[in-house]
Amino acid sequence: MTAPIHVAVTGAAGQIGYATLFRLASGEIFGSHRPVVLHLIEVPPVMSALDGIHMELDDCAFPTLAGVQKHDSDHLEDGFRDCNFVILVGSIPRKQGMERADLIRINGPIFTNTGKAIQAAAAKDVRVVVVGNPCNTNCLIAMSHAPDVPRNQWFAMTRLDQNRAAAQLAHKAGRPVAAVSNVAIWGNHSATQFPDFVNAKIDGKPVPEVITDHAWLKGDFISTVQQRGAAVIKARGASSAASAANAALDTVKSIVTPTPAGSCFSAAVWSDGSYGIEPGLVTGLPLTTDGHNWRVAAGFKIDEFSRTQIDKTVAELKQERDTVKDLLP
Ligand code: NDP
Repeated sequence: MTAPIHVAVTGAAGQIGYATLFRLASGEIFGSHRPVVLHLIEVPPVMSALDGIHMELDDCAFPTLAGVQKHDSDHLEDGFRDCNFVILVGSIPRKQGMERADLIRINGPIFTNTGKAIQAAAAKDVRVVVVGNPCNTNCLIAMSHAPDVPRNQWFAMTRLDQNRAAAQLAHKAGRPVAAVSNVAIWGNHSATQFPDFVNAKIDGKPVPEVITDHAWLKGDFISTVQQRGAAVIKARGASSAASAANAALDTVKSIVTPTPAGSCFSAAVWSDGSYGIEPGLVTGLPLTTDGHNWRVAAGFKIDEFSRTQIDKTVAELKQERDTVKDLLP
């Protein structure tokens, strides 16, 4: 009998959390022979909603669901105990009129406690995916409070940006999205991110050779990806949830699955100085993995345009880090 994989999700009763749990339980992510034990974590006032979700999980009768635990955020160590994956969705959403810096100050302390609890209780091999925004800096705070959990086990989510970019490129080229590969997102998961069309490929060919409208690539393509979250809110009256949950799950799948040759996946990780990005930030980078150990993808071409874009988004990450420097030990 294969040992179950324990997966914790914070903010489990929120929009994204709810859209994540059933796919985790279904066997889609870790395979139909790998039992999954879900650890649902929420703030105390929302615990009763978790009871309803637990009933729904039972009612799906997923053969792979080997257990459900419910924990409140006052007892995070219990929630993370022996977890192999932790998906950190729970955080305070940005309200109207709130500046990014306000949000960072509000959510920072949540991630301080989270980092400490992961270090104290999670399995040694735990991999952490931070979704709650501002996810790069929240990840930096959490990992800084868990110095015994190796840095290469921490990720912040830029996958939704990768998926959005791939979809835009596919539409423009009139090709299926499966024809698009090697899409990197550099920097911050924010409106400064750089979706890299220079190294992306369609049918294995560089995007700038396939899409010859370079003004679109440098203009509307980038701004559409950067502003996509706001466009969804405007149209739907609520922030993206199913696509964000899908991206969190794609991130987990990409971490545990060998990357196809000639491609990469996007996530924000601790920078080691690769591509001239200051070490010690959690920045979007192109990654590849053999399913166990990941590395920064080599050989990405950084032209003058890309350099300017990357420097701009990295400058924002430095500002965010400075805003929370009292929270970084
Ligand atoms: P959502 O589930 O919609 O969003 C949760 C977080 O994910 C937000 O920070 C949101 O950022 C972020 N996010 C990241 N990428 C995206 C994206 N592409 N689109 C939309 N959101 C994105 O929020 P809810 O309010 O529905 O749920 C949050 C839950 O977290 C609540 O149930 C709350 O009780 C819980 N919570 C749990 C905590 C814990 O377990 N420790 C702590 C605090 C809250 P953005 O604000 O930018 O939309």
